[in-house]
Amino acid sequence: MNAYDPKQIEARWQAWWDADGTFQTDGGAPRDRKFYCLTMFPYPSGTLHVGHGRNYIIGDVVTRYKMMRGFEVLSPMGWDAFGLPAENAAIKNQKLPATWVRENIASMKNQFRRWGVGYDWRREVNTSAPDYYKWTQWIFLVLYERGLAYRRHAPVNWCPSCQTGLANEEVVDGRCERCGAEATQKDLPQWFFRITEYAQRLLEDLALLDKWPETVRTMQANWIGRSEGARVDFRLEDGTPLPIFTTRPDTLWGVTFMSLAPEHPLIAKLVAGTKREKEVLAFCERARRQETVARSDAAVEKEGVWTGAYCINPVNDEKVPLWVANYALMEYGTGAVMAVPAHDQRDFEFAKKYNLPIRVVIQPPEGQEIAEFKKKEGSQGTLIRFVSGPLRAEEMWSAYIYDGVMVESGAMTGTPTPDGIPEVIRYLQTHGMGEGTVNYRIRDWLISRQRYWGAPIPIVYCVQCGEVPVPVEALPVKLPPETAVEFPPRGESPLAKVKEWVETTCPKCGGAARRETDTLAQWLCSCWYFLRFTMTDAERRAGGNARPFDRKAVDYWMPVDQYIGGVEHAVLHLLYTRFICKVLYDAGHVGFREPFAALFTQGMICKQSPRTGKLEKMSKSKGNVVSPDAVIEAYGADTQRLYTLFVGPPQKDAEWQDDAVVGARRFLDRVWRHVGEHQSAIAGAAPYAGNGSDLPPEAKAVWRKTHQTIRKVTEDIEQSWQFNTAIAAVMELSNTFTAAGEALAEAPAVLRLALEAMVRLLHPFVPHVTEELWQALGHEPSVLAAGWPEFDEAACAEEVLEIPIQVNGKLRARITVPADAPEEAVREAALASDRVKEVIGGAAVQKVIVIPSRLVNIVVK
Ligand SMILES: [Zn+2]
Ligand SMILES: [Zn+2]
Repeated sequence: MNAYDPKQIEARWQAWWDADGTFQTDGGAPRDRKFYCLTMFPYPSGTLHVGHGRNYIIGDVVTRYKMMRGFEVLSPMGWDAFGLPAENAAIKNQKLPATWVRENIASMKNQFRRWGVGYDWRREVNTSAPDYYKWTQWIFLVLYERGLAYRRHAPVNWCPSCQTGLANEEVVDGRCERCGAEATQKDLPQWFFRITEYAQRLLEDLALLDKWPETVRTMQANWIGRSEGARVDFRLEDGTPLPIFTTRPDTLWGVTFMSLAPEHPLIAKLVAGTKREKEVLAFCERARRQETVARSDAAVEKEGVWTGAYCINPVNDEKVPLWVANYALMEYGTGAVMAVPAHDQRDFEFAKKYNLPIRVVIQPPEGQEIAEFKKKEGSQGTLIRFVSGPLRAEEMWSAYIYDGVMVESGAMTGTPTPDGIPEVIRYLQTHGMGEGTVNYRIRDWLISRQRYWGAPIPIVYCVQCGEVPVPVEALPVKLPPETAVEFPPRGESPLAKVKEWVETTCPKCGGAARRETDTLAQWLCSCWYFLRFTMTDAERRAGGNARPFDRKAVDYWMPVDQYIGGVEHAVLHLLYTRFICKVLYDAGHVGFREPFAALFTQGMICKQSPRTGKLEKMSKSKGNVVSPDAVIEAYGADTQRLYTLFVGPPQKDAEWQDDAVVGARRFLDRVWRHVGEHQSAIAGAAPYAGNGSDLPPEAKAVWRKTHQTIRKVTEDIEQSWQFNTAIAAVMELSNTFTAAGEALAEAPAVLRLALEAMVRLLHPFVPHVTEELWQALGHEPSVLAAGWPEFDEAACAEEVLEIPIQVNGKLRARITVPADAPEEAVREAALASDRVKEVIGGAAVQKVIVIPSRLVNIVVK
């Protein structure tokens, strides 16, 4: 055999897999043997670095492993090609988005190929292709018909740099998720999806996702943000209803003022013509310019202004002054918040600032010590000491937010806190003052984008008929040619300027109509791509692209058995997709409620940045990007794969170290030599299948280690994808193999067993070199077809050795230890022997000499 030369073999195996159709699948297996392995498809953003490589390589390991376990594996790939990244980059590079996307797809596809990741390319999708977005538009219509898509004039999050509206999920820490610009607010007519109608189901069904990381489920639950409480019907003095939502109805008797959000529609009416009008409206104007995020931040300065008006608290008919406060948000509850300064910290701070009354209605349980809240100096919120009640409003230095007993609360006085909430709700309901209700933090999903590079929203506006959906037969509503469009965003969709595109006829009456010029957020494109993958391109075209997916194929393949991707999608893609699938389920288009049975979120590959000196996620701006081309050129793709997998547990972030990569290459060189050196010796031998009793010790050790390694690698993959320890186990086998040396020549069957196991166990990690070695071992390709090696539990059992113990050179005892026990364990076992203790008596042990597997000599004074 020649020396290991990845350049020579990798391209050859890539071509072989292509020609063989190794990763093409047509789903013939029984359904319990199908396995849909999906790695999140990428934005065709250009070149990929080795950090990006991690999740595709992990996906490929799973695909190949499952294939070797006899599963029918669907492993598809495609391109999330619509959206801001493509359009922004196209503008920057002075290229048309479609051209930019096409070029990047070609180079990324080539990169996947060079990594040796196996996909069924017959199923490739490109979300920006009209034959695909036709059905994205169809999904919009499904929602529209079900009353789940609506247009509303509303203040929305706005990215001043991307010049488009953003969904709440796209605003991270007050910034545009895409470009990092600070998000502002803007009033626009926009399209929304009623994801809020599915809030409860999205929350409840998280319980079905027991193979999802806990962190992702928690993030979704928090984002949905269910809280139970009550709607309480306050009213204005003239009887106008002013409902509020509260999670603490048990504090209703402690309300001393009411806060309205600056956007609240009542305000203008309340102050109209009064002497406070100017001041109040000016305050509202100022507060509305503050970021929502900042306004809801606990640390931000609470500000407000009195409207001069009052409302009536239904439980005690008290007049409550109506204020406008910057921390009251229109999006939460009803935009009106009852204020109980004694038991809510924000209200407390506000009351202190504006000198509003504080009324204690929850007393700490008698005799129980409570947190020091009476302190008059020092920093707010710091726990100083515990004291006991009763609370007096004038002594409080912060709100008392803990459990206790209701006081000064009319008929409810004396009720302890946990019971207080449901009892007050019952009280409100019997007296017609409100009812128990549930509130959610999640808002409707803003799907309008004022950009060119997306699927046009299939709606026209007719003078006669108003808003009319484009019928399915007329889909896709194609984008006008790029050359007709001026891209740079100016706050309005660039499509609005393409007159001949905007002007159309009404599908209902045939009269003049105008097209909707907003496009759909690219998040909708990625809500269903895995359904499209269940058909090959030929199958899609066979029916003239007459359906989004084939129901039979979807029923067979779905749900996705294993989804792999980044945790950054937790409340974006992963939440949206669950929502859309539930809608498709309700509409009878699919038969499952949850699209992804198992989810794996990989850690990031980091590298020390030469600019900051810190360990950071790979990125161009940090100057710490490693190109796969360079690594493949120097060591081969298998080395890059092996290093990527060996660098740490795949769930965790890991550090890429350039000088450590060569270690992975050296190991592959060693495996290559193992096969090369023994190729002729094992030519006629079959893999050893005996029970070990006929083997000389060195061969027996290799035989046992082989079975142990198969067990270890299998367990590491099955239990928690510990690819790094699995690889380490094969390295150990290689060491045992080397240690056995020449002695193995007499046991060609064991040699073959060990070498074939090594090659098969390594295949999912390093597919090219193992295909080559499998062939060198005298087999037809592919090693995938050879299946995963089996281990024999009995063969894994450790052998025990009897070791003589000498004390001062005289044989005194014998102990039994596992054959591979480390020196330290043998030493301890020797000293712990009862017979040895007896012999030594009180004498001091000076030295213990251990000759591994042979003898222990204890020297005493
Ligand atoms: Zn932006
Ligand atoms: Zn019409």
